[in-house]
Amino acid sequence: MKIRMSSPDLTEADRQAVEAVVNTPNLSMGPNIDAFEKAFCELTGAKHAIGVNSGTAGLHLCIRAADINPGDIVITTPFSFVSSTNVILFEKAIPVFVDVDLITGNIDVDLLAQAVEDLSLGGESARRRLPRRVPDFNQGQSGSVKAILPVDVFGQPADYDPINVIAKQYDLKIIEDSCEALGGEYQGRYAGTLGDYGVFAFYPNKQITTGEGGMIITDDDEAADFMRALRNQGRAPGDTWLQHTFLGYNYRLDEMSAALGLSQLKRLESLLAKRARVADWYAEHLKNIEEVTPPQLVENTTKVSWFVYVIKVDEKIDRDRLAVILEEKGVPVRPYFAPIHTQPYMVKMFGYQQGDFPVTEDLGNRSLALPFSGRMSEEEVLTVCQRLAEALVSAKR
Ligand SMILES: *Cc1c(COP(=O)(O)O)cnc(C)c1O
Repeated sequence: MKIRMSSPDLTEADRQAVEAVVNTPNLSMGPNIDAFEKAFCELTGAKHAIGVNSGTAGLHLCIRAADINPGDIVITTPFSFVSSTNVILFEKAIPVFVDVDLITGNIDVDLLAQAVEDLSLGGESARRRLPRRVPDFNQGQSGSVKAILPVDVFGQPADYDPINVIAKQYDLKIIEDSCEALGGEYQGRYAGTLGDYGVFAFYPNKQITTGEGGMIITDDDEAADFMRALRNQGRAPGDTWLQHTFLGYNYRLDEMSAALGLSQLKRLESLLAKRARVADWYAEHLKNIEEVTPPQLVENTTKVSWFVYVIKVDEKIDRDRLAVILEEKGVPVRPYFAPIHTQPYMVKMFGYQQGDFPVTEDLGNRSLALPFSGRMSEEEVLTVCQRLAEALVSAKR
């Protein structure tokens, strides 16, 4: 039994969908991306869907659409995959981190409210909220708070009712990083539709995959046109192939990827159900292992979209040693997430120190992602749990 960290779920129909595209001359900007985008609008109820070649590209286009300029501030979370912060830095804007909730790993909305208030007061209140060292991105001119970028961590949406209240009060855009939450729901509302723009991603470990790919959804007509233009080298509607109204990118999603995504999306419910079944097996078999806490869901999460299965280990356990022992036993695991503010380039740029975001750091020190995909059997889950129980004995501090 070879246990994998994750594994895409591909069928013969998926393979045929890709093969059908490569039998045509139309490999980019053809009917498949149109159909894939339309399917996303139907699924989520969003007015516009814009396919792109990664989740990161999608988030970057949202930053551009929100008119975020050098020196502007975007409030976000340090407990995420790096790209949610990197896209802010791509525009030389300043990510200001707010610590997270211990249960969900999502941005702490009380701390968020305080941070926005302090930043809007300016002066010393604002200064306290900024990183220790702020690079001079805009010749000494500090910009204003423009947006909030919450992340729906591990498939559980952040707490968007209070986030929307704050955004309205201070006239901020909300960019929802739903790259881990396709199909998840917050109080019956679809993940990705809970702010101004939502972004999904389709890397092979995500709930559906296109190899590489992403999708932006929004109800904002003007932003949608702008993001469509930027994805296609800045060509505005009406531009010819060699006319470029805006500074844009090649963020296009190719036809093979779009065809695969469309085929996968048709099976979304069953893909999510398979992942939920694996999560249930884990919960069942972890029940009696007292040194670990399984993922916890909150009431607002009316549907979780299982992305990864991340446990928290007790403080008495040396998590890194546990990971080494598990790898030796043939169980791949990942410390997940490594806090963004402790990444070398972030420390160098902003002067972050240990202790700056204690909850994120605590989660970063105690979290462990177990092997997870919808294709795991109960036997594999049981094996992981048994080896975990054995490894825990040797990993006590
Ligand atoms: C997967 C992911 C992304 C996007 O990743 P890409 O590899 O660029 O598609 C962004 N944010 C989070 C939180 C993710 O998990």
